Amino acid sequence: MALDLNNFRGRITITDGACGTELAKRGLPAGAIPELWNLDNPAAVGDVARAYVAAGSEVVLTNSFNANPFALAGHELAGRLEEIAEKAAAIARAAVNSAAHVFGSIGSTGKVLMMGDVDEQQVYNGFAAAARALERGGAEAIVLETMTELAEVLLALRAVRENTALPVIASLTFGSGPDGTATVMGVTPEQVVREAAPAGAAVFGANCGVGPEPYIRVVQRYRAATDALIWVKPNAGLPQLKNGRNVFPMDAEAFAAAVPALVAAGANFVGGCCGTTPEHIAAVRRLVSSMKA
Ligand SMILES: [Zn+2]
Repeated sequence: MALDLNNFRGRITITDGACGTELAKRGLPAGAIPELWNLDNPAAVGDVARAYVAAGSEVVLTNSFNANPFALAGHELAGRLEEIAEKAAAIARAAVNSAAHVFGSIGSTGKVLMMGDVDEQQVYNGFAAAARALERGGAEAIVLETMTELAEVLLALRAVRENTALPVIASLTFGSGPDGTATVMGVTPEQVVREAAPAGAAVFGANCGVGPEPYIRVVQRYRAATDALIWVKPNAGLPQLKNGRNVFPMDAEAFAAAVPALVAAGANFVGGCCGTTPEHIAAVRRLVSSMKA
């Protein structure tokens, strides 16, 4: 049955945290693309989804952020996009066994459409193939994540809407501009609502970035511009390079401490992006439960 987004109104829904780092803890080799394990180690991918559900996630995302022709080509997996995306959804569905919703992750290609350095039809075809495969595998919605350019959001929206029956969450990465509420390409929350709502986005979001603090203002600006549901998954602070590795400064309690302000600003879906773990989600869960009490 189709997902009814109205079921998410009037409550706070806990989503999940980072996936790649959890796979790394389970032995994914450094430099390997996390999506490789949809093919080679589906048990570990399912294990991560289950860990998030155990921590309190009511929505888990599929391990398919990089399922686009450009990212996969760099790992000699370009011909296996649909297989990787369909398995991502099927693995998550089987792992959570209806204890949580499964939303399909589609990340930014990292290509700038505005510069014309990439063929738009090729980008569209990649988004369409990923979305169809995620729907086939059992995803209930599509999350366009870590987008920074409006043109890519709109192209991806069109590809998903024209090729699936799934609702779409349009989530961009903010952190630029004087108060951190614009994307690196200068896109504001109001612009996202104005352009992406008519193109069929059902939910507006902010993910990744420099930590929860500027996302309080981003969510406020979204909320002032729309009555739609709002999705937020900040990073665990601004990553710091230590011994060649990105280290995220916010522990679970520090991260969860920002949640009441995000909820007060108008967020409906709350989770984490880079640097967040099942411990962070469990802390968010505890905090949200105490807010309801
Ligand atoms: Zn992130």
